[in-house]
Amino acid sequence: MNFAMLARNADLYSHQRLREAAEERGHSLEIIDTLRCYMNIATRRPEIYYNGEKLPLYDAVIPRIGASVTFYGLAVLRQFEMMGVFPMNESVAIERSRDKLRSMQLLARSGIGLPVTTFAHDPKQTDEVIKLAGGTPVVIKLLEGTQGIGVVLADTDRSAKSVIEAFRGAGVNILVQEFIKEAGGTDIRALVVDGKVVATMQRKGAEGEFRSNLHRGGSAQAIRITPEERSTAVRAAKAMGLNVCGVDMLRSNHGPVVMEVNSSPGLEGVEKATGIDIAGKIITFLEKKARPNATRTRGKG
Ligand code: ADP
Repeated sequence: MNFAMLARNADLYSHQRLREAAEERGHSLEIIDTLRCYMNIATRRPEIYYNGEKLPLYDAVIPRIGASVTFYGLAVLRQFEMMGVFPMNESVAIERSRDKLRSMQLLARSGIGLPVTTFAHDPKQTDEVIKLAGGTPVVIKLLEGTQGIGVVLADTDRSAKSVIEAFRGAGVNILVQEFIKEAGGTDIRALVVDGKVVATMQRKGAEGEFRSNLHRGGSAQAIRITPEERSTAVRAAKAMGLNVCGVDMLRSNHGPVVMEVNSSPGLEGVEKATGIDIAGKIITFLEKKARPNATRTRGKG
């Protein structure tokens, strides 16, 4: 089969691994720089151009669209969908996953465990928002943050108020969340491919750090998860409509709670921690499911 991958940096571990896995199985995988694609929308036959040439009809496209290029990247992916190319994850599902608040609303609607989360626009509601989140300590998060940046733990009402006011002053959207202390600075990431959990790891924050992000100096190891955690991860992927994703969960006193569902999960940490060939499982999924015009939405939000 002929695959395309939308990515900015061809050299990243995850991108190289996906290419290797495709080639090992006799396929070709072309890495296309998302921002260098240009498109012809005003015609019945949607087209995408790259380096002066029209792109061929691939069997599938693997979107690896970084958070900073979401807007243009999704436009390119939608164009592939309009051409009938099968996307590993649909543009609509990726768009949902990029909005933390919308994601949490979708997960809540499906009855999936979440940390108590509050959100308000009006800064005068600060006291009320902290109270609704169960009182301090609370975790305050930038809505558009990634890799743990913009995630703050506030121990006292006073510090919570000043952090909320500082973020508000900067004109950014935030959410305020119950702090799951019993997680002990660890979280679980479950990789879901085609409705199944294929690998699981536990990430632990560096000494004295409540954020377990690998980018923040955390470390990862393979872990066995409970059937409840497994089913939570699978249901979260389904609620978001993602075929391939990383579901981040915390072990709370009231069962697993989902923090985030990532539509472009990094493969390096989890493949190295578990020894599982996740790239191979993703390619196998595409072999099985990629058909022309087989997307549910064809880019229609
Ligand atoms: P990002 O999307 O920027 O990675 P997350 O929401 O995943 O932000 O938070 C980063 C890390 O902070 C998580 O991996 C987790 O270890 C920790 N964390 C986030 N929210 C909570 C919470 N409500 N209670 C306890 N720890 C949390």
